[in-house]
Amino acid sequence: MAGKIRLYPEELNDMSFEERKVHKEKLLRESIRYMYDNSPEYYQLRFKECGAEPGDIKTIEDLRKLPIFMDKDRERQSMEASLEKYGHPFGLHLCCDPADVVSTGGTSGTTGHPTYPYTQTKEDQGFLNEYVGFMLKLAGLGRGDRAFFLFPLGVYATSAILPGVEKAGILPLPLDIRLGPQLALEMVKWTRPTFWFTGSAIVEFYADLLKNKLGMDPKDLGFKCLLLTGEAGCGIPEVKKRVEDAFGCRWYDWWGPSLLNIAISCDSDEYHGLHNFAEDWDLTGEDLVDPVTKESIEIKDGAIGEIVGTHLRKKAAPYLRYATGDIVQVFTSECPGCGFKGYRLKPVGRADDMITVKGVNVFAGAIHKKLQQFVPRVTGHMRVIKEDPSSRITKLIIKAEYGEGMKDHLEELGKLEELGKEIKNAMKTELRINPTFEWVPPETLERPLRKPILFEKRY
Ligand SMILES: [Zn+2]
Repeated sequence: MAGKIRLYPEELNDMSFEERKVHKEKLLRESIRYMYDNSPEYYQLRFKECGAEPGDIKTIEDLRKLPIFMDKDRERQSMEASLEKYGHPFGLHLCCDPADVVSTGGTSGTTGHPTYPYTQTKEDQGFLNEYVGFMLKLAGLGRGDRAFFLFPLGVYATSAILPGVEKAGILPLPLDIRLGPQLALEMVKWTRPTFWFTGSAIVEFYADLLKNKLGMDPKDLGFKCLLLTGEAGCGIPEVKKRVEDAFGCRWYDWWGPSLLNIAISCDSDEYHGLHNFAEDWDLTGEDLVDPVTKESIEIKDGAIGEIVGTHLRKKAAPYLRYATGDIVQVFTSECPGCGFKGYRLKPVGRADDMITVKGVNVFAGAIHKKLQQFVPRVTGHMRVIKEDPSSRITKLIIKAEYGEGMKDHLEELGKLEELGKEIKNAMKTELRINPTFEWVPPETLERPLRKPILFEKRY
C-alpha cells in the first residue's frame, strides 16, 4: 500500500532494534577504517587532532564522543584545498580516485562558492538508485509514471536522483524553472505527468497562481501525488493540508538521497515526520547535538537537536560526524500512522536561523510554522526584524501579512490588534516569546522559490 513505510533493504525489517544497531555498528567500524585509510589529509588529521584512533570507535556511543569533524565551512575549505593541490573540487575528504567519480552535483553557493556534496562512485550510485526506486514505490509510483521535474536548482543537487527515477521505469520530464510558469503549465498540458517532483515553495506559488490569478483548479492538472523537498513548507502540517486540498492529492515530504538522509513521509492525514527508511546508509537520528555548544543530546522520543551525520557505506566523499545545521525533532517510537519502526524526523529549523530573545532560544522557522495556524487571517508570509547582525534580539518584531479576507475589515477598530494578540498568546505559550506585530497587506513580502527568507535586515 502506498505510503506504508518499511525499512530498506527488506532484511532490516526482520531485525529487532538491537540487532539493527549491531548491524549498523559493524558498518560504522568498516566505514571509519575506510575513511581513515583513504583520506590521510582530512580524516586522518581530524583523528590525530583529537587524539583518537579508528579502533577506539566500536559503537554509536563511542562515535558520539568524537568532536564534530566537519560542517559546511570546513567542507568548503577542504574543497578549496583539493582544488589547489590536486585540481579537483571534491575535497581532501575524497576517499576514491577522482577518476572513479561518476556523478556530482553542487550546492547553490549562496553563502560562498558552491560545494559538491553529491559526489558518487558507480557503487554509490547503484545504492542510491535502489533507495530512490524504493522511495518512489512507497509513494505508489513506478513503471509508466511520468515525473514533472521542476526545481530551482534542478541542474545541480536534485539531478543526482534522476538515474534512480529512470531505473524505476519512470519518465522524468525536467524543465528549467527560469522559463516561467506559462511554459511550465503548457508542458504539463502536453505531457500529462502523473506526479510532481518539486520544492514546497513552488507548489504553494502554483496553487495561488492557478486559483487566484488564472481562475483554474489545481486539481485539473491531474497529479496523483506531490513529492516535495525544501525548507519552506515541508514539515508544516497546515501548509501540507492546504496544498493537498488545492491539488486534491497527497503531499509526500522527502529528503536526500545524495547528501545524507534518505527519508519520506507516510500516507497519513496527520503529519508524522520524515521516515528514515535507509537506516544502514548513514546515521541520521542516532546522533544529535546542541546547535550552539555542539554537546551531544540524548536520543529519546521527541528529542530536539542538530543532525550530525555519518555515512556507513558511501565510497566517494563520505561524511564522518558532519554537523548539518538542520535542527530536527527525532521520534524513536513506532509511527502512529503507518507502524514504521525506524527513526522519524520532523524539521524544526536551521541552526543559522536561531535567535535569542531575552535569554530564550527560538528558531525563526518555528515562528513561521506557528503563524501558519492562523491562515487565512494571515497569508503565512513573515519576516523577523533584525536591527543588527547579532542573533540576540531585545525587542522581537514580526512583520507579517494579514490575509486577503481581512482587507474589508481594516476599518473595524482593533481588528488587527486583536489578531496580533491572539497569535502572540499562542507564541507565548508554545515558544516562550512575546512578539510585536507590524502588519502589511497581502503580497507585500517577496516569495522566493528557493530558500525561504525569514529575516529583514534593518542595519
Ligand atoms: Zn508513518
